[in-house]
Amino acid sequence: MDGTPHIAATPLIDAFGRRITYLRLSVTDRCDLRCRYCMKARPEFLPKSEVLTLEELEQVALAFVARGVTKIRVTGGEPLVRRDVITLIERLGDRLGAGLEELCLTTNATRLEEFAPRLAAAGLKRVNVSLDTLDPKTYHALTRGGSLDRALAGIAAARTAGLKIKINAVALKDTNAAALPGLIEWAHGEGHDVTLIEVMPMGEVEANRFDQFLPLDAVRQDLEARWTLTDLTDATGGPARYVRVAETGGRLGFITPLTSNFCAGCNRVRVTCTGQLNACLGRDGSLDLKAALRSGGPGALDALLDRAMITKPEAHDFRIGREGSSGASRDMARTGG
Ligand code: SAM
Ligand code: SF4
Repeated sequence: MDGTPHIAATPLIDAFGRRITYLRLSVTDRCDLRCRYCMKARPEFLPKSEVLTLEELEQVALAFVARGVTKIRVTGGEPLVRRDVITLIERLGDRLGAGLEELCLTTNATRLEEFAPRLAAAGLKRVNVSLDTLDPKTYHALTRGGSLDRALAGIAAARTAGLKIKINAVALKDTNAAALPGLIEWAHGEGHDVTLIEVMPMGEVEANRFDQFLPLDAVRQDLEARWTLTDLTDATGGPARYVRVAETGGRLGFITPLTSNFCAGCNRVRVTCTGQLNACLGRDGSLDLKAALRSGGPGALDALLDRAMITKPEAHDFRIGREGSSGASRDMARTGG
């Protein structure tokens, strides 16, 4: 970038009056794990030529910042498997305090041992780590080959580097239902917030979504039988509803796209690693920022951001039933979870 001072441009406000201040930017569809609810065993990854370069990802990110986006989450796929992604994160970190207020990362933690110090130095304060189980065998099976020790070492390295960690766990009827209290207890003991997430019908996986789907109201009931949960009113600007667990002292969030719609307060959009702007996680349809950027430059890109505000749907359309599911045909790794 040229160092030109930030000029306040028109903010991004959609047709339902929701102001978009949060961008989730997927930097790769690739991953070193193959979580059974996220990917097939043998996913077809995109050819590198289709993926935005690091410079293009930066241009896209800064176009959003120029339109009032104050928070960017770098995600994937597994963001830290992309070569040199740390340089993109460092360059975005240079924008902190100049329009950008928060830069964060969602990761499976396998590479945090290597990258945590540089992430902290780049200005990151927080990382979300996906960890669905503390049982090494279950972890290995669920991720199709991952090492729990490696993920835990990554989490420890992030803490040593001064990063605040939130553990995200997808609640899975067929995998971790009984072990969720133990996971929460461990995380709270380590000082980490936890968010539980309902599995969403995104992309095709081998498993039946109905066998995976565990409604979080049932999980909450189960937790209330053992602990005292007090609703918190913390406005995180996100879809999670939080409680304080009296016995552990920790914070626990519930993201319930299936059982309770959270779209009214939506403040976010997603950009895939191929530059597709998805205004809604749970619906198909996207705008091609890559084509705009490559053929029309920054002006064309900016015009598409306005278009996205007109087309952003009011709500997602996720459903999971015994007879089938509906949601988005793209998977979470490609979308930028
Ligand atoms: N690889 C990184 C990770 O796992 O944290 C970042 C990308 S991953 C796609 C982002 C988040 O999406 C993770 O917390 C993962 O558990 C979640 N996720 C993936 N597929 C999902 C699905 N079908 N339903 C709900 N959450 C899903
Ligand atoms: Fe990889 Fe994250 Fe998907 Fe697991 S959830 S396969 S770690 S992208």
